[in-house]
Amino acid sequence: MKKVMMTILMMVLVFDLAIGQEVKNVIVMIGDGMGVSQVYAGLTANKGSLHLERCQYVGFAKTYSASDYITDSGAGGTAIACGVKTKNGTIGMDTSGNSIPSLLAIASKNGQSTGVVVSCDLTHATPASFIAHQPNRNMTEEIANDYANSDVTVCIGGGRNNFEQRKDGRNITAEMKSKGYQVAYSMDEVAKVKSGKLLGLVAEKHPAAFPERGNMLPDAVSAALDILKNNEKGFFLMVEGSQIDWGGHAKNQEQVINEMLDFDRTIKVAFDFAEKNPNTLVVITADHETGGLSIVGGNLETGEVKASFSTGGHTSVMVPVYSYGTGAKEFAGIYQNTDIKPKILQLYGSKK
Ligand SMILES: [Zn+2]
Repeated sequence: MKKVMMTILMMVLVFDLAIGQEVKNVIVMIGDGMGVSQVYAGLTANKGSLHLERCQYVGFAKTYSASDYITDSGAGGTAIACGVKTKNGTIGMDTSGNSIPSLLAIASKNGQSTGVVVSCDLTHATPASFIAHQPNRNMTEEIANDYANSDVTVCIGGGRNNFEQRKDGRNITAEMKSKGYQVAYSMDEVAKVKSGKLLGLVAEKHPAAFPERGNMLPDAVSAALDILKNNEKGFFLMVEGSQIDWGGHAKNQEQVINEMLDFDRTIKVAFDFAEKNPNTLVVITADHETGGLSIVGGNLETGEVKASFSTGGHTSVMVPVYSYGTGAKEFAGIYQNTDIKPKILQLYGSKK
């Protein structure tokens, strides 16, 4: 009898351990154009520390696309979202033009809640890669149409004009409203939504740069998590710090640092959620580096940074992958950006 009881006890323990290892919620965070130098510029400006340092494992991803040694955000986003190398400029399709289901689409099919939160137009390349399938990233109206067909639970970003002020006269916001979406045009309106589906279009085009847009990005992630956590099957959320890249293109050091630190405050929101909610995995990476940034001087006491840009475009260097929470150790090592999708699907386990 005692032996039987022990066996049952052991089985319960093993079962509990297995449950503890299961990944239910995944938050993928993409710093557009965020290489190691952008991270260190932010760390220096912040006088020696970042929330990002709470990460548990670090890896590196190779970012080249199917067509180019240096990727754009379309192919880079598609590699992370869909797990395929494709041609620069392509959204959610392989090189033959086949639509490939994204992590978000698969999570949605499995009954999980899903979200996209960005500090750019929702139809921009990175968020589009998780929602849309279009041969060209500039097909913004078609990408907005794909939102209406995506079944995404929560999306918050800019781009209202691509949903409502269109050449074809369609009003995608109205169409999504008729499908049950609550619509919010400001962060105050976003904050009022606690459940159900939400389309948050908080700017006509791109939201302003930081600090003009305030705490839009961290607040939007908090709001999204409040809604997404209601699903007992878990969720998939993609967050983009979209404008780090734009600082690189502009060779504007202050812009890179402002956007990097805004993204870091957003990372804190995700880490705090994962800390309170076991079975949550946070993966933070970039689609590519922008600006060929190097740091040629600085002061950790004053926060002074002396940065030098070697290009106004993207570069080919590997990008860091920082991970936190359940399953985080799977993201150590050097691998392809297309390996991130299968790693996450494997961690989601039986719900595939
Ligand atoms: Zn760029």
